[in-house]
Amino acid sequence: MKLNPSKDFLLVTGGCGYIGSHTTVVLQKAGFQVLILDNLKNSKPKVLSRIQEITGQRPEFVEGDIRDAKGLEALFQKYRVSACLHFAGLKAVGESVEQPLNYYENNVQGSLQLFKAMKEAGVKRLVFSSSATVYGQPKSLPLSESASRQAENPYGQTKLMIEHILEDLCRSDLDWSVMSLRYFNPVGAHPSGMIGEDPLGIPNNLMPYISQVAVGRRKKLQVFGNDYPTSDGTGIRDYIHVMDLAEGHLAALRAAFESTGFQALNLGTGKAASVLELVQAFEQASGVKIDYEIVQRRPGDIAECWADPRLAREKLNWSCQRGLIEMCADSWNWQQKNPQGYD
Ligand code: NAD
Ligand code: UDP
Repeated sequence: MKLNPSKDFLLVTGGCGYIGSHTTVVLQKAGFQVLILDNLKNSKPKVLSRIQEITGQRPEFVEGDIRDAKGLEALFQKYRVSACLHFAGLKAVGESVEQPLNYYENNVQGSLQLFKAMKEAGVKRLVFSSSATVYGQPKSLPLSESASRQAENPYGQTKLMIEHILEDLCRSDLDWSVMSLRYFNPVGAHPSGMIGEDPLGIPNNLMPYISQVAVGRRKKLQVFGNDYPTSDGTGIRDYIHVMDLAEGHLAALRAAFESTGFQALNLGTGKAASVLELVQAFEQASGVKIDYEIVQRRPGDIAECWADPRLAREKLNWSCQRGLIEMCADSWNWQQKNPQGYD
C-alpha cells in the first residue's frame, strides 16, 4: 500500500492532546489529511481552531473513545484511513498507581479495541506513543532500544503491555508495520505559541511547572531532591522539543510504509540536563527569575535517564534540531500568550 498524502486520512487518536496536536500540525503541513479521534478527557476542543490558524486547515474531528468498538467500526466505515498514529491514553504516573484499573482499561483495553478495528478495516500501519518509562531503572546509560524493559508503575506497565501486544500482532501477520516510539521528555511548544502543553490542575512535569511559576500561577518550584549521584545532585533527563518529536512521527510514518514488522525507536536528543540546568536555561530564555526550593525526592523517581538516539537517526533519517534554550523559549512563548492554557 502506498502512502498517499492528498487522498487518505491519517487517524490520529488523542490528537487534541499535547503531542498529538503538534504532530497534526506537522502532518497537515506535509500535505496529509488528518482525522482526530479524541474523547477530550485531557484536552480542549479549542485546539482544533488553533491548529486551523497555524495550518489553514481544520482537522476532521470525531469526539469518541478508543474503547468504543461500535464507534470505531463506524469511523472506519465512514473514512478511508491509510494509517494510524495512536496517542490516546492516560499518562499520569501517580494517578496510575492510585487507579490502576482505569489505566489498564483505558490504555490497554482501548488499544486492543483500536487494533481490532484497524485489522477489521485492513489498516495495518501504526505509529504508537510508547515511552522511555518501559526501561524502568536504567542499568546503563545511554539507553538503547535493546536495553531490558521493566515497568515500575501501572502507567509504564500499560505501555509495555501494548508493546508486547504489537510485537505478537506483527509476528502473527507479516503485513503489519508498527513503529513504537519511546519518547524521552517532551517539552516546548509550537513556535507560534498557538498550541502547547495545558495540564489540568497542578502540573506533574517539570517544564510546565517552571513556566507556571514564571507566569505567576505558582509561587515556587519544588526541586525533588539534590542528593542524587549526578553532577549537581538533581535528577537528569533527556528533554526533547515537541516539534522535533512531531517531525519524528512524520519520519516514522513514512518509514512504516517502507517496511513491515515491529520496530521500537527512542525519540530523544541523547543529551542530558539536570533540573537546575533546565531552570537556568528557562531563566536565560525568558529573562524571568524562577524561585525554587529543594525538597524531598519524589518517590519512584530515577536519578538519570537519557537516550541513545542513533537507531532512530539510522532508520528514520531524523534527528533533533532544537536545543534546551529553544525548548524553554517556546514553552515560555506559549505560556505568556496563554497564561491559563486554552481557557
Ligand atoms: P495528552 O493527555 O495531552 O493527550 C492524550 C489525548 O488522548 C488527550 O487529548 C485525551 O483526551 C485523549 N484520550 C485519552 N484517553 C482516550 C480514550 N480512551 N479515547 C480517546 N481519547 C483519549 O498526552 P500527551 O502528552 O500528548 O501524550 C500522548 C501520548 O504520548 C500518550 O499515550 C502518552 O502516554 C505518551 N507519552 C507522553 C509523554 C509526555 O511526557 N507527555 C512521554 C512519553 C509518552
Ligand atoms: N521535578 C522536580 N519538580 C517538579 C517536577 C519534576 O524537581 O515539580 C524533577 C523530577 O524529580 C525529575 C525531573 O524534574 O528529576 C523531570 O521530571 P518530570 O516529571 O518532568 O519527568 P519524568 O520524571 O517523568 O521523567
